[in-house]
Amino acid sequence: MRKPELLIPAGNLEKLRTALLYGADAVYVGVAGLSLRAGSAEMSMADLAAGVNEAHAKGVKVYAAANTFARNTDLELAKKIIPELAAIGIDALIISEPGMLRLIRNSAPQLPVHLSTQANTTNIEAVRFWHDQGVKRIVLARELNLKEVGEIATAVPEMELEIFIHGAMCMAYSGRCYLSAFRNRRSANEGDCSQPCRWEYLLHESTRPDDPLILREDDRYSYLLSSKDLCLIECLPDVLASGVTSLKIEGRMKSTYYVAVVTRTYRQALDALTQQKEKYKCRQEWIDELTKISNRGYTTGFAFAEEKINETSQDVKYIQTHEPAGTVLQYNAAQKRILLGVRNRLQTGGYLELLLPDGIATLTITEMTDKNGNELSEAHSGNEIYLPFDRQIPVGILARQTVKSGGNNPE
Ligand code: SF4
Repeated sequence: MRKPELLIPAGNLEKLRTALLYGADAVYVGVAGLSLRAGSAEMSMADLAAGVNEAHAKGVKVYAAANTFARNTDLELAKKIIPELAAIGIDALIISEPGMLRLIRNSAPQLPVHLSTQANTTNIEAVRFWHDQGVKRIVLARELNLKEVGEIATAVPEMELEIFIHGAMCMAYSGRCYLSAFRNRRSANEGDCSQPCRWEYLLHESTRPDDPLILREDDRYSYLLSSKDLCLIECLPDVLASGVTSLKIEGRMKSTYYVAVVTRTYRQALDALTQQKEKYKCRQEWIDELTKISNRGYTTGFAFAEEKINETSQDVKYIQTHEPAGTVLQYNAAQKRILLGVRNRLQTGGYLELLLPDGIATLTITEMTDKNGNELSEAHSGNEIYLPFDRQIPVGILARQTVKSGGNNPE
């Protein structure tokens, strides 16, 4: 069975390293000023260069998103950055529109080009058109079902195809939406969506401003605009059968903990699928793992849809059962203890799960000390603490705890 590429979002260098640790085949990153994820999910050229070196040392590819819909004022920056990206060894540049393609062809003709899902590629002729333009890979429109994806793969086998298999979904067609720009001047089309489609809405009649009609679909909220999240873990055999090259996880803005869980879970599932072939079965533990990152309930989205439909969320709030507790910064084998960079409040008696690439190690906090040896009863985000643990743990491993139990053992 052909092994597809597992492609993971890396909003910064820490997330890139986490993706490498947990088994990504490739990562995609934002280029400062040119990607459709503004600010916090873009990387500086220095971080990008470091990330490319570390990824290549492990045989992992790095794709850089320069998929903004470039305006005239963006072109000078693009002209400057494209040769720099080629020089640091980026494996491909992800673009959305032909102006950027022309710039790449002029200044770095050897650089492979991937076409972003933002370009709305939905049919065989469009894929052939982009192939004629020298595009190596297309991230197909999210609105396609797997049957349509398979038809494209059969008709244009020379084009690499990439689809999303996990992450947030948009109510707008391929993310082309002005709701965020209108509501609070943060444009989704410039990578800065504030997700107002997830908000709660009231209907006001102009002569009765103090008597709003609450748009409710149950006794709490309205979900008219709020989509569930995509999750195709249970139908990976169908996904692979469609003939796609690359399986993409959404979420360059998401946390390091999210990167750890989705990479680890899909890595295990894809390895099992390619080894076991027809005998493969999706394990319940993988489904359970994906419910331990914040989500809005899961859907298979358009994968099996005959019509252009979507599912709205049954809960306007994110579902969050677990939170990151910290990251392993060091393991001292002589003293048998972990140095943990704390992410959320911890307390003695708390119960942690350490997410190893191939399993989970558990730890009850019997004692914790700071770097000066002082005993602590609790620790907070930003602290670095020592925890006794008798087993070697790799640097970068994420620890988590339950949210509701306040870190206590949920059993
Ligand atoms: S506001 Fe909602 S529908 Fe619009 S781009 Fe943002 S996430 Fe998508």
